[in-house]
Amino acid sequence: MALSFYNSLTKTVEPFVPLDTAGKHVGLYTCGPTVYNYAHIGNFRAYIFGDIVKRTLLHFGYSVNHVMNLTDVDDKIIRDVQTSGKSLEEFTQFYANAFKKDCGLLQILPPTHYTRAVEHIDDMVSLIETLLEKGFAYKSDDGSVYFDVRKDPQYGQLSALQISAQKTNAAGRISADEYEKDNVEDFALWKAWDEKDGDVFWNTSLGKGRPGWHIECSAMSMKYLGESFDIHTGGIDLVFPHHENEIAQSECATGKPFVKYWLHNEWLMVDGKKMSKSAGNFHTLNSLVEAGFDPLAFRLWVLSGHYRTQMNFTLEALTASGIALTRLRNHYRELADVDGALPDAKYLDMFSLCLSDDLNTPKALAVLWEVMKDDSLDGATKKATLRAFDSVLGLGLSTIHAESIPEEVLSLVTRREEARTQRDFALSDTLRTQISKLGYTVKDTDNGPKIFKM
Ligand code: AMP
Ligand code: ZN
Repeated sequence: MALSFYNSLTKTVEPFVPLDTAGKHVGLYTCGPTVYNYAHIGNFRAYIFGDIVKRTLLHFGYSVNHVMNLTDVDDKIIRDVQTSGKSLEEFTQFYANAFKKDCGLLQILPPTHYTRAVEHIDDMVSLIETLLEKGFAYKSDDGSVYFDVRKDPQYGQLSALQISAQKTNAAGRISADEYEKDNVEDFALWKAWDEKDGDVFWNTSLGKGRPGWHIECSAMSMKYLGESFDIHTGGIDLVFPHHENEIAQSECATGKPFVKYWLHNEWLMVDGKKMSKSAGNFHTLNSLVEAGFDPLAFRLWVLSGHYRTQMNFTLEALTASGIALTRLRNHYRELADVDGALPDAKYLDMFSLCLSDDLNTPKALAVLWEVMKDDSLDGATKKATLRAFDSVLGLGLSTIHAESIPEEVLSLVTRREEARTQRDFALSDTLRTQISKLGYTVKDTDNGPKIFKM
């Protein structure tokens, strides 16, 4: 069974053929967070998506070298570090730790390499030097270095920019890290120090300054994955300018194709608008946990939509997802745990087929629910099948151990979860008392309720 992905570069669904001639190793790069604040759950849609790409590759037998950067110097960080009273390191480390903790709660596997931009300034400088030497970049009067978009005949290949429009609009230079397509201009590779940068600067052969955002990802991805690698993921907003600029910088410097497959996830929306920090319509994972939601209910909800469709987030949908997850866990817990049982071949094939078709997780989940309801499977086979699915879906089933808990207790725990997510704490307390009368106690953890015999 062959994997296929929608490639944003060719705008088609293509069979996945890795660059490694033996066909076993895959290089994967995910644009990581800008660590100037807590990531919101819209951001986590992008990281759950990257995780599904990786887990699917592993499921199909590939070994994956996965790199995720931490952008710990850019315009937004410089803006906010000044008022924080902290050093750049202290300021960004705090949010990097918070990000890693949230990834853990969401069962997002850690990358092979987390790469911090500030630890790779030399690699960025040498890439910029190459672009200067080859004539694709130039120094401006203030000592900043810009990429000359007109020198790159391929510029616009990912975002399907019209070259003529690009030329008409290309009126000058842009130093901001983020900008719209209407402002296609020469973009900054290196930003000469100015007062608003405060004490954030590096003294390098390019002068005193700091890197632009786009060069960070080109330098770090190529350092760990080679000048050409297989897959690059990120949210749809990164197509332009970030990924377009990554391609331009990398391909002009090396003369080789940069990335074979570009995969982008669509928006997580709220009331018809993209969830974003600037719109103020966001939830953090922590705010959902404090409201009594299970992080994996969010993961399950994300997987219920295809990554290339927009999803509208509501607390009602999250509640429903939490209930479905509790049912799944309770069912799983009840199944016989016999060593050596194999997953059911027919269901495993159905599941893999859904993933092979451009990562169709909603269909893969439908197979999971079908397995759960299928009474003709013996308990051990069913359990092995669900566990195999969970190695891709990451719903935390493997952490549940076999316990023989009476049906009555499980049903009370499910009802108590429903009451809690509806914030009916009086009912939830009553149900807890009933559970304890049956000799069990419930502990609420980040991964959902855990039941213990008293
Ligand atoms: P940032 O920290 O802003 O660079 O964003 C981190 C990742 O989150 C990027 O891959 C973005 O494309 C992605 N992202 C940001 N907002 C959303 C959203 N509302 N829905 C889905 N992905 C998003
Ligand atoms: Zn990036």
